[in-house]
Amino acid sequence: MSSDPNCIFCKIVAGQIPARKVHEDEDLIAFHDIHPWAPVHVLVIPKLHIATLSDAGPEHEALLGRMLGLAPRLMRELGVTNGFRTLVNTGKDGGQEVYHLHMHVMGGPRPWARG
Ligand code: AMP
Ligand code: ZN
Repeated sequence: MSSDPNCIFCKIVAGQIPARKVHEDEDLIAFHDIHPWAPVHVLVIPKLHIATLSDAGPEHEALLGRMLGLAPRLMRELGVTNGFRTLVNTGKDGGQEVYHLHMHVMGGPRPWARG
């Protein structure tokens, strides 16, 4: 399934619900988290609907690499200069709430609200 009509992040990809986007290319988008843990908290997602990291296969390795590679560039662009945290929650025990693969990227001066 490349897109799931019931998935909130697929709706953001399709422009059906609003998001504060900070990046878009052919394969990925990034946007601010609605409940930020840190002064800067963005989510990087593939446009393709992949429910969890456990559902990604060898054919997605380049995509996963691009998600990670985008993080330092985004943090630089958003003015984060002192390090940042990347996080992928996977499945129930991993604390995943939205079942469309996403990577949290958090930075900015501490203390943070969470994390
Ligand atoms: P996770 O526990 O990794 O699945 O986290 C899902 C994240 O998505 C949470 O940090 C939410 O605040 C965030 N989130 C949920 N809905 C939206 C939305 N419409 N726009 C931006 N962030 C969202
Ligand atoms: Zn989706």
